[in-house]
Amino acid sequence: MKFLFFVFFFLASLNAFNVEISSSEVANGKTVLFVLEKEDGVKYKSLLYKDKHYKVLQHPLHQSKMYVLLPISYYEKPSDKKVKLLYQEKKKEKEKTYFLRVKDGKYKKESIQVSSSKVHLNAKDKKRASKEYSEAMKVYNSVSPKSYISSEFIAPMTSKITSSFGKARVYNDTLKGYHSGTDYRAKVGERVKTVNDGVVALVKDRFYSGGSVVVDHGQGIYTCYFHLSEFKVKKGERVKKGQVIGLSGKSGRVTGPHLHFAARVNGVQVDPLQLMALMNENILNKDTK
Ligand SMILES: [Zn+2]
Repeated sequence: MKFLFFVFFFLASLNAFNVEISSSEVANGKTVLFVLEKEDGVKYKSLLYKDKHYKVLQHPLHQSKMYVLLPISYYEKPSDKKVKLLYQEKKKEKEKTYFLRVKDGKYKKESIQVSSSKVHLNAKDKKRASKEYSEAMKVYNSVSPKSYISSEFIAPMTSKITSSFGKARVYNDTLKGYHSGTDYRAKVGERVKTVNDGVVALVKDRFYSGGSVVVDHGQGIYTCYFHLSEFKVKKGERVKKGQVIGLSGKSGRVTGPHLHFAARVNGVQVDPLQLMALMNENILNKDTK
């Protein structure tokens, strides 16, 4: 009897709360979603992954749920990882461990020829590019506690995708990182739309990305629109999904006009289309309970 009680108690404590993980396997450059059911007496705090805390946030559509987006860096090597959920139960600090397998995204390689002045930067350009990088990182690393979104993401343009996220990039025969976003075919002057509601966090002409707009969707989600020829919004402005934020162009380090569309989650660059599909299916789909 005592033993049975123990077994029951053990199982009950294992199922103390309900956590749904979008996948236990994830490729580098992709995002994993944790959805948690709120429980009486339980206060979720954060997910701990590789010494970084990812705050558990209020679900934008369901008052009874919370969620965390865990972005996996493109540079993460295939391996088995531990993710710890830190929470408070009856004022006691507790944790629960989940296992996550990071697999190889098997991204293709791509060779690009650009003018050598854009590969080998002079001191002035180097200084400018690094200043712009830290300025943008400051934006990406700040998490607005409230979500601005309440419905599904849309694409920034309806044209053909000419280059997908993650391709390893070889500039003038030297490997220099990877394609950090999704490219849409565009001539100079085509309308570019924000993929969801948010607040404009950055409007600037930058060395690499040219005419750049960054939209804060709240709760650590940012989308970026690069190489624009014209801005249609100002920093700090509230924008609605589908609103034109600028016109496409060929500014910055590019070989021709197109839209480079990118996303950041909690500071980490991720595949924007996978992130939006993940959110649309699991968080923003009004049919899911
Ligand atoms: Zn691009």
